[in-house]
Amino acid sequence: MSPVNAVRPNTILLGANVSVAKTGLVAAVEETIRYDANTFMIYTRSNRGGKARPITEFNRDEGLRRMAEHGIVDPVVHLSYLVNLASPKESTWEYGIMVLKEEIERVEYLGFRYIVMHPGSHVGEGPAYAIRRIVEALDSILTGEEKLWLCLETMAGDGSKVGNSLEEIAEIIALAKHPEKLAVCIDTCHNFSYGYDIVGDFDGFLQHFDDVIGLDRLKVAHINDSKHPFGARKDRHANIGEGAIGLEALHRIVHHEVLRGIPLILETPDGKYRAEIDMLLDREPGPPELYVPVGGAPEG
Ligand code: ZN
Ligand code: FE
Ligand code: FE
Repeated sequence: MSPVNAVRPNTILLGANVSVAKTGLVAAVEETIRYDANTFMIYTRSNRGGKARPITEFNRDEGLRRMAEHGIVDPVVHLSYLVNLASPKESTWEYGIMVLKEEIERVEYLGFRYIVMHPGSHVGEGPAYAIRRIVEALDSILTGEEKLWLCLETMAGDGSKVGNSLEEIAEIIALAKHPEKLAVCIDTCHNFSYGYDIVGDFDGFLQHFDDVIGLDRLKVAHINDSKHPFGARKDRHANIGEGAIGLEALHRIVHHEVLRGIPLILETPDGKYRAEIDMLLDREPGPPELYVPVGGAPEG
């Protein structure tokens, strides 16, 4: 079985948003080994735009070999922020379609099975318009033959974003021509900031998810603390235990049995991933050189 698709239903899969600078997948895997983590997330292209580095330059085979050696499975790719499939502006919308089509091919080349994307921002046209626009874009991209899932990320309700509520995500999936290729990525910072009480009642949130979307579509989760309080509708990630969600709740979420076997990805600031993963997994700290910040990976 390929390391990418090795199913680990009873394992906590925890990793971070890692860099692909210079050596591509090899860099991502080396950073993941440094964190003693068993999964990871990457962006294959810069969020500042420009032409994507050819995916054939990502040292795929060497990266996959090292993943297998170290038991690293089910990595996630996050789509560029510049994609807005809800945009009323034709050129922006078409650019997003082009980039997502290309990204599907790139990720299929790597052999990964999850792309996480932000549903989009309506920029004044309203959520109903945005949902139609996103569905139209997805219908023009997806053929049903894809070897991966597009995971729509739940958002914090900031700006004119859509996909903040589970109902909005469910509507996009229900209207799309190929719902079998669509799944969901939750983000603890976003969900809490939007107003889902994941601290007091994470089970209730999962129950609501199951009622509205179905837990079989929950494929990825981002684990972040929040700089802003409950219901603030602001998207600012804090380090684990240093925000309004707190370590106790995030620890409980990471260890929740419903999340076993699905990649849990940290997108916290300041390159503190090793210490955060240690804390969340109740591990004794290792030697100090492991805690030198490796910064630069963007928030999401
Ligand atoms: Zn975020
Ligand atoms: Fe996120
Ligand atoms: Fe994101």
